[in-house]
Amino acid sequence: MNPSPAETVGVYCSRCDVRVAAKVTASHIDYSAASSLLRRRAADDSEVTLYSIATCPGCSSVFLTRRSFSEIPGEFTASREDPEVLYPSPARPELGDLPEFVRRSFTDAARLYTGGIYGACVGKCRQCLAAVCQEQGAPPDGILEQLTDLRKRDVIDGKLLSWANELLLSCDERGESHVDQESARAMLEFVEAVVLYVFSVQARFERFEKLRGGVRTP
Ligand SMILES: [Zn+2]
Repeated sequence: MNPSPAETVGVYCSRCDVRVAAKVTASHIDYSAASSLLRRRAADDSEVTLYSIATCPGCSSVFLTRRSFSEIPGEFTASREDPEVLYPSPARPELGDLPEFVRRSFTDAARLYTGGIYGACVGKCRQCLAAVCQEQGAPPDGILEQLTDLRKRDVIDGKLLSWANELLLSCDERGESHVDQESARAMLEFVEAVVLYVFSVQARFERFEKLRGGVRTP
C-alpha cells in the first residue's frame, strides 16, 4: 500500500477568491486509523489518511489538507472523499458573550468535527443545544420540545424551529451509527445558528435599541 500523493490538491483560496489547484510540497501518510476503522466497519478493505501541505499557485498561501484513501489489497487505491482543509481553518463568526458551558460544548463539537469524529460531534452538538435551552429557561424535555418552547417565547425565530424539525428528523432516520461528515456539518451549522441568534443577534439588537433610545431621549 503506497498511495502516491497527488501533485496538486483542489482547494478554495480565500485570498485569490477562487478554487485553485494547490501544489503539494510535502505529504505524510497515517496508517494508524486503519486498524481501528477495520474493527469498527468490519470491512475487508483498509483505510489510510494522507496529510498534505500545498501552496496556492497564485498567491503562495499555504494549506494543510487531509484525505482518506481506501485500499482493497492487490486491487486499487481510491480516494473516499474531497480533501478536508485543516488549515487555514474556515472563518467562523464571532460568537459573542456565551455562557461558559455553552461555549465549551460548542468549541468541543467544532473540534470533534475537525478531528473527523462525527458521531461524537453530533452528540456534543445535542449537549450544546440542551445547554442553550436550559440557559434560556426551557423546561426539561426533548430537544425539539424545548426549542418549541423557546419559539413560543420568541427566544428563537420560526425559521430556526423549522430547521430543527427537518434536521432532527433526518438525524433520527439515519440513526446515531450512520453519522457521516455531511450530517455532522449540518448539525454543527444549525447549532452555530442557534447560538448566534440567541446570544449574539439579540445582544446586538439590544445594544442598537439602547443606542437609538439614547439618541431619542438624550
Ligand atoms: Zn491564492
